[in-house]
Amino acid sequence: MPKFTIPEKTELNLKEKIYLDIKSIKKPEGMIQCNRCGGRTIMNTVTGAFLKNGRKVGGTKTDKNACYHCHMQGIHSPMIPTIKIVKTKKIKK
Ligand SMILES: [Zn+2]
Repeated sequence: MPKFTIPEKTELNLKEKIYLDIKSIKKPEGMIQCNRCGGRTIMNTVTGAFLKNGRKVGGTKTDKNACYHCHMQGIHSPMIPTIKIVKTKKIKK
């Protein structure tokens, strides 16, 4: 029968200590933060915009309020979840 042993707790390396320090910083109330990575950079992308008189005009919003850091790793993580409100009909008794 195999013996199961509990591995000894190893010390954190510098990278892990810095990561934990950053995660322990309290975020200001109401600030939008990524639920996946904890990033606070919001990204909006527009496809097909034109330049008219020195200003950006038109285009289609393709990514709205997505996490920039997750996007750089190829993961789409919306920072503001879209909640669909379901309307229910009242039942007459
Ligand atoms: Zn993220």
